[in-house]
Amino acid sequence: MSSSLAIHPVHVVLTVSKYEMVFGEYLTFIRQKTRALLILVFLHSFMINRIYLSSNHPFATPQTIESIAHSSLAEMRFEGRISFENLEFAARDFGNRYHLMPSAVLHPKSVSDISSILRYVYDLGLSSELKVAARGHGHSLEGQAQAYRGVVISMESLRDPEMSFHGGKHPYVDVSAGELWINILHESLKRGLPPRSWTDYLHLTVGGTLSNAGISGQALRHGPQINNVYQLQVVTGRGEVVTCSDKQNTDLFHAVLGGLGQFGIITQARIALEPAPKMVKWIRALYSDFSTFARDQEHLISSNNSFDYVEGFIIINRTGLLNNWRSSFSPKDPIRADQFNSDGKLLFCLEIAKYYNPRESDNIDQDIDTLLSELSYIRSTLFMSEVSYVNILDRVHVSEVKLREEGLWEVPHPWLNLLVPRSRIHEFVAEVFGNIVKDMSSGPVLIYPVNKTRWRSGTSLITPDDDVFYMIAFLSSAMPSSTGKDGLKHILSQNKKILSFSQRPYLGIKQYLPHYSTEEEWEAHFGPHWEVFYRRKLSYDPLAILAPGQRIFRRGIAYVQQ
Ligand code: FAD
Repeated sequence: MSSSLAIHPVHVVLTVSKYEMVFGEYLTFIRQKTRALLILVFLHSFMINRIYLSSNHPFATPQTIESIAHSSLAEMRFEGRISFENLEFAARDFGNRYHLMPSAVLHPKSVSDISSILRYVYDLGLSSELKVAARGHGHSLEGQAQAYRGVVISMESLRDPEMSFHGGKHPYVDVSAGELWINILHESLKRGLPPRSWTDYLHLTVGGTLSNAGISGQALRHGPQINNVYQLQVVTGRGEVVTCSDKQNTDLFHAVLGGLGQFGIITQARIALEPAPKMVKWIRALYSDFSTFARDQEHLISSNNSFDYVEGFIIINRTGLLNNWRSSFSPKDPIRADQFNSDGKLLFCLEIAKYYNPRESDNIDQDIDTLLSELSYIRSTLFMSEVSYVNILDRVHVSEVKLREEGLWEVPHPWLNLLVPRSRIHEFVAEVFGNIVKDMSSGPVLIYPVNKTRWRSGTSLITPDDDVFYMIAFLSSAMPSSTGKDGLKHILSQNKKILSFSQRPYLGIKQYLPHYSTEEEWEAHFGPHWEVFYRRKLSYDPLAILAPGQRIFRRGIAYVQQ
């Protein structure tokens, strides 16, 4: 199902241009007049919408919102169901620090359920402050999928369409945006055609990761997940159902990719596939010098014949590190590996993987030896493992199961993700790991470069200006009752110091999964792209109904922070 977008000034200008040759000078005159008029109309709508986007309606009170939510919504008919009880799950997320209670949760069965509720809320206009948040798997960190006193749409209920696979030269799968990547992996492997780009953890929804970017170690070959989608179906903040792609409704397509849920709810996605490998050689090796480590990582992501996955992490002050690896990796040189002492050092671990099929395994070892011979890691620290393709992709879930057993999965996760330009990475590492972070007992710190030259441009994702930039992810878990270095207070204060350094404008560092509280901070995050982001908001969600938990366009919500 698709419908055309509302008439936009730009569309009118384009239509005028098309007939200009036929009507000659007459039309040139009209066009000048029309342009002037359009600018006035646009400015007028901009001013009105600016009021819509940033202020409270004077007559709406929490009581009227509650009563609208309960009486009118309860009378609506859905193919799925709307619920006003047992809503606590929708006020939680992986970050486990923000708990914003909605008034209702919609469990949609069809796209028209989503379109109906958005049309209904849009038609309430300024008489209501009701907001709507799509919730994927709720793995946000700071309440981004929550809606205080609003409606949360639980996207996992949407099973429309059933996954449908298509072969040919450019194979793809059509999926519901509420689908988990892990389910797509299992289904796609039955056909030998999995998606090309992943996140490190697969129990996330398609709509949730496409609203951010979906970056991981496979990005060196295929770019992030937002690069590997051919087409989307989106329900805008006006309730319109729109199909969009690089060729059709392109502005909306680019807007929602990395769009933090601001322009529409993604309901379907067409995802690019590639032939599946069966097995993976998974390799780790250590460096004690950051410059050598960074040079090798950058070499690997820039060469054509390289590994299929390149990531890395930082090790601070760990004892017995290599011994811990032995449960899943084997040392290439066991005797020298035994003699290596990691105690107290700042180390950098390269993590790489090469995919293969068993019948090619003779060649694969040779290929890997050749690739490794170009690198300058500490020779005694090379560890290798052979795992199935599924096992490497679903590796974080193994840790999840263990942490859940110990009651350590549902703790606060004050994560901080930064994108650091290559030109500033040495300065960043020297300051952050020399002066701020002295210990990382609270969780891993990932560090790896990506090369954005082949990434899709024009999306809403904000990255540093350099073509190569580093993903630095501080993935902390806070121990609930700890007042020490693994306690929430200490980690938040450390994050604050890292952020205060990183926000120096000359560094050009950007947050990934960004989190800010004021419009000024968001403007600074988007920089010169803010105007486009704002213009798109006016086009697709002029009443600022969608994804209020991102706190970009606020309508005066009283946020509750624990
Ligand atoms: P939610 O948290 O439910 O939603 C995220 C945002 O998107 C919200 O604003 C929500 O309103 C909006 N949204 C959700 N669904 C839709 C939709 N259908 N249409 C429009 N908007 C929607 N990210 C990476 O890039 N790479 C990684 O390797 C990576 N690893 C991770 C590992 C773990 C353990 C966790 C918890 C997160 C990881 N992430 C990673 C971050 C992850 O991509 C984001 O947190 C993502 O938002 C989670 O997806 P979700 O389905 O739970 O979305």
